Amino acid sequence: MTEAVRAVLEEVARDAPEVLDELVTAEWAQRYGRPVRLCSQPGHPAARQEQVGNDARELLQRLDARFPGGAPAQAKVLRTILVQHVLVDAKGRFRPRTMRDGRPPSRIQIESPYETEARWTRRGDTRWTGYLAHVTETCDDKRINVITDVATAVSSADSQALPGIHARLRRLRLLPDRHLVDGGYTSVAGLDAAARLHRVTLIGPLPPSTTPQHHPAAPPRSTTPQHRANDGFGRENFIIGFDQREVTCPNGQVSANWQDLPVAEPTKVAVRFDARQCGRCPERAKCTPGPFRSLYFPTHRLHELQTKNRADQQDADWRRLYGRHSGAEGTIEEVADGHRGHRCRYRGLAKTHVQHVPTALAINVERLSLQEPDDGSYRPRPQDSRQSPPQ
Ligand code: SF4
Repeated sequence: MTEAVRAVLEEVARDAPEVLDELVTAEWAQRYGRPVRLCSQPGHPAARQEQVGNDARELLQRLDARFPGGAPAQAKVLRTILVQHVLVDAKGRFRPRTMRDGRPPSRIQIESPYETEARWTRRGDTRWTGYLAHVTETCDDKRINVITDVATAVSSADSQALPGIHARLRRLRLLPDRHLVDGGYTSVAGLDAAARLHRVTLIGPLPPSTTPQHHPAAPPRSTTPQHRANDGFGRENFIIGFDQREVTCPNGQVSANWQDLPVAEPTKVAVRFDARQCGRCPERAKCTPGPFRSLYFPTHRLHELQTKNRADQQDADWRRLYGRHSGAEGTIEEVADGHRGHRCRYRGLAKTHVQHVPTALAINVERLSLQEPDDGSYRPRPQDSRQSPPQ
């Protein structure tokens, strides 16, 4: 927030300096006169927040009075950051917005007033504010592998990048028959869409089954607290009758309804066992913390695809094929470290993409320049001739 106030002051000092008369004092200059560098545990954070919040409020009130038709651009950004990051309590004091207060999702939350499109992102243990680069390359054993697509995106699920990647590769007639992707890009709906729309077989691990994990080292994945505690009913404990459009629970109750979601192009089914059925159930503690149990699962076609994919993952050939995907990690290193891809030279999503494309081209040129002609005619120029041209 301090940076956002500073950005407004810079803009107003340039375009309408009279607004700052009798407002900006020596203390303001101390607070906002240079780039903010906070350590991980700044002193007096609550007092600092309170002070900056009051400054921001006063500044915005002045700007509203001076520009009744619409505040300057940075003032709008400051207002958005205030709404997204802080709350005003009953006594008019500013305090940081917590998860309990309902923070906006990271895909819409502004992190910097100077780079409003950048978003906070997390992949595994790595966290950053900025953009994502999705790189696609060939993986032929006998040829030099080249990058065929690079996509730049803001914080979002990796799987959301796939439709765009496939559409661009299709336009360039570069669509592969099989596309190896890591687990972040796979979803059963994505597998189905790639096969139906582009005839591309996605090869990648689907998330594991939500069956209770009986091995103590296995990571629990489930949708209910009981299931996460490894002592409850997961989806696999229910018998799904796709033809009858009904589900039978472990207590022998048959689901009360069956709903395809979304209605236009269903990808999953929702069923519910109502409070009348669950109220008398002796197993309820193992099944649901509430008065009823809901269950979500893929539609019949997607369910079969999911089952097949999980079975394929156990196959040695599938694992060997998927093993080729490990080369992608080297390419990511090449982009991020070899070509400083983790630092943007420009601001904004569009310009960041302008950086990513030549980076991918440079990598391709580097790789192809190492390839020797098949006929053995390659003769590297002697070192001497580079220094002094022949007479
Ligand atoms: S709580 Fe409801 S859904 Fe769960 S086993 Fe009992 S009757 Fe079936």
